[in-house]
Amino acid sequence: MPIYEYFCPDCNFKFELLRHQTQLNESASCPRCHNGAERIFSSFASFSKSDEGPSAPIGGSSSCSSCSATSCDTCQI
Ligand SMILES: [Zn+2]
Repeated sequence: MPIYEYFCPDCNFKFELLRHQTQLNESASCPRCHNGAERIFSSFASFSKSDEGPSAPIGGSSSCSSCSATSCDTCQI
């Protein structure tokens, strides 16, 4: 779950909440004064899911994609 920052204008208190995305439109209450707090958008989505695929295999030019050895049946060096 991503962490969202909220700011309470009543007591000038900034706090963070772990919230599911389905809870985003729900108002958050300040833990100090329990009034409504506003979400801060500046540091949004630092924990959001990644749309990137798996990273490229790490290895030298002599390794194949399925093993880390320099010689195997699929390397064909
Ligand atoms: Zn407050």
